[in-house]
Amino acid sequence: MKNIIVLFGKPGAGKGTRVSEFLVGREELYEVLSVGNLLRKARKEQTELGKKAESYMDSGALVPDEIINEIVIEGIKTSNKNVFLDGYPRTVGQAKAMLKAGIYPDKVVNFDVSDEVVLQRARDRIVCEKCGEPYTTNSFKPPKKQGYCDKCGSKLVRRADDDEKVVRQRLQVYQEQTCPVLNILMGNYIKIYTVNNAQKDADKKFAEIMEH
Ligand code: AMP
Repeated sequence: MKNIIVLFGKPGAGKGTRVSEFLVGREELYEVLSVGNLLRKARKEQTELGKKAESYMDSGALVPDEIINEIVIEGIKTSNKNVFLDGYPRTVGQAKAMLKAGIYPDKVVNFDVSDEVVLQRARDRIVCEKCGEPYTTNSFKPPKKQGYCDKCGSKLVRRADDDEKVVRQRLQVYQEQTCPVLNILMGNYIKIYTVNNAQKDADKKFAEIMEH
């Protein structure tokens, strides 16, 4: 049986960075299903999904549940590896649809950071335009070659939704629509672990939780 692990937390809490560190040497065992990356790819390729998602993403809103549930539930079912869910479920409706589809995550890792940390990280973040790998313009995780992805060599760009006004909107959406998801998961006896993701040893804490 494959494990399903939900990566929970504010947008910009550092979920993607933490998991990509953890995956070094474990790529064969795990797959990361990042809804944001899937949507960005769809937009770039201008697929039906990408065109539908565009305006929601640019304003900091969530894409409607029906669209998201279909792609994520299908993605989980067809994967033959352990799955990290990055950015799902993000609404009560998504959590309910996931459970209704018989998908019960093994654990939830809640990455806790303050709004101030999120705002600063958005200012410092650059991502690979092709594979979505995140880097920073400060000394935390700079690319080896400035402006290019270590993994696939593609160009690094700023995300439009890292604009400060949009980040504030996304934090509000998180508070109103995503936070209540934790109660639904807890109510279904899914274990929630919390990592303070602004602390230096957050990577060790995360690795410990993964061993549980
Ligand atoms: P992320 O990269 O996870 O911060 O996601 C970027 C954007 O994609 C979000 O601001 C939403 O517009 C959209 N998005 C990502 N995950 C979801 C989701 N589970 N439900 C609805 N929209 C999502």
